[in-house]
Amino acid sequence: MNRRSLLVAPLILAAPSVWAAPVKKPVPKPKLIALDPGHGGRDPGALGYRGTQEKGVVISVARDLARELQAHGRYRVMLTRSSDTYVPLRERVARATDAKADLFLSIHADAHPDNDVRGASVYTLSEEASDREAAALAARENRDDSSVAPSSVVARTLVAMAQRGTVNDSCRFADTIVGTFGKSGILLLPRSHRKAGFAVLTSPDIPAALVELGFLSNPRDEKILTVRQHQMALARALRASIDSHLAPKSSPTRKA
Ligand code: ZN
Repeated sequence: MNRRSLLVAPLILAAPSVWAAPVKKPVPKPKLIALDPGHGGRDPGALGYRGTQEKGVVISVARDLARELQAHGRYRVMLTRSSDTYVPLRERVARATDAKADLFLSIHADAHPDNDVRGASVYTLSEEASDREAAALAARENRDDSSVAPSSVVARTLVAMAQRGTVNDSCRFADTIVGTFGKSGILLLPRSHRKAGFAVLTSPDIPAALVELGFLSNPRDEKILTVRQHQMALARALRASIDSHLAPKSSPTRKA
């Protein structure tokens, strides 16, 4: 090869790339959101002042939220139960883990011996409960389930979660829900983000929170929790929380 052809050769080699089809950027798969409507089947969950069952309220809100999330194809959604069936807590965790969900939200409504207590609250996993009420709530939500994780499993999960960053991510998600509820005019309990050993929040790979939408034991909360308009408002606020939590860190947060 003479000196001239050496100079020309790179040009010839480079030329085809000008005409090559543009390299397609891989389209990221929409995030998979696991929604976990509490209780179901033989387990009605909390009972309202006038007899409303928690299991019916929470699946209604979960279905609304699933529709909100699936609109425009922005997310994929899975429900740990889609009908009035009993699904053990360990099975709910397994379903979300096997599906490789990116975020887990358990949806509940509470009851309290004091009928005046009302408002929503959000919980994340902790070995030590943040307060006695949170500990009692976790005991209620874990009740009637032979698959409940012993405290050693909670402790082991927290170590694994800390290594993967899912503890902080779960807390950030819970705080985002509290903030969005506040902005949406949804009444909150004081100290709205609390912590306890919830068996359903023990997937080490998935940032997870549990929301209590209000108190069925309070007549006003019970009434609004059965009104479709309020259920849809809750679903919209939860969708906005998920949008905000999953929004790229560098870009401004999407509005509700
Ligand atoms: Zn519940």
